[in-house]
Amino acid sequence: MSLSSFLNQTPPLLVNPSFLAPLLHGIHFRNRSGISLTFDDGPHPEYTPAVLRICSQRKIPAAFFLTGEKAARHADLTNAIRNAGHQIGNHGFSHRRLTFCSGAVIRREIDEGNNILEEICGSRPLFFRPPYGRFDFRLRPLLTARGQIMVLWSLLSYDFRAHTAGEIIRLVEKYLHPGAVIVLHDGHPRAGMMLQALPVILDMIEKRGYTFAPLDPDTCSNPTFCQFPSPDGS
Ligand SMILES: [Zn+2]
Repeated sequence: MSLSSFLNQTPPLLVNPSFLAPLLHGIHFRNRSGISLTFDDGPHPEYTPAVLRICSQRKIPAAFFLTGEKAARHADLTNAIRNAGHQIGNHGFSHRRLTFCSGAVIRREIDEGNNILEEICGSRPLFFRPPYGRFDFRLRPLLTARGQIMVLWSLLSYDFRAHTAGEIIRLVEKYLHPGAVIVLHDGHPRAGMMLQALPVILDMIEKRGYTFAPLDPDTCSNPTFCQFPSPDGS
């Protein structure tokens, strides 16, 4: 049985217990054609435009996982992301952890995020990334019913808890791999450090001969295990 069918078919009681959480959180997502940059928790009035400038200067595609709440507050920035040709994903309405909450809460977090993004961008986002990478058996069927794909990552930069830009750079350098889906945070209060690190990281990726690619829906829908830093936040 493939991992994706395991996730879809395993009875809830086998998937839900907390002792299986590390297993579920060890599922990462890689991209087939190149390195994908993903930016979470925005839009942020200061950091998102800076990321957009860097991506535009270097002609690099990226995916932005926005919370509905912030997208509504910064509709102009949400539009700027879309107009720059980047992918936009739903990161929940209010960045609530989608485990240990009711099904109604999960549905509301998905749908309110979708509605806001659809209203601003004109189309429903294809991708959904659960806040903190936390989810249980209930999430995927809800996303499938909405024609959406869950995307996690294969390389967590830990930019949200780094003390220096150098820490972020070294971690990405150590774990960079073909098809990496890298998660960075433009919406985090400490994103200034990520911005310092970003040009160096992009140089490093190019120097290693990798190209950048948007998230590929086909690959992203097939989770694979890999050994990169286990996620404990996003
Ligand atoms: Zn997040």
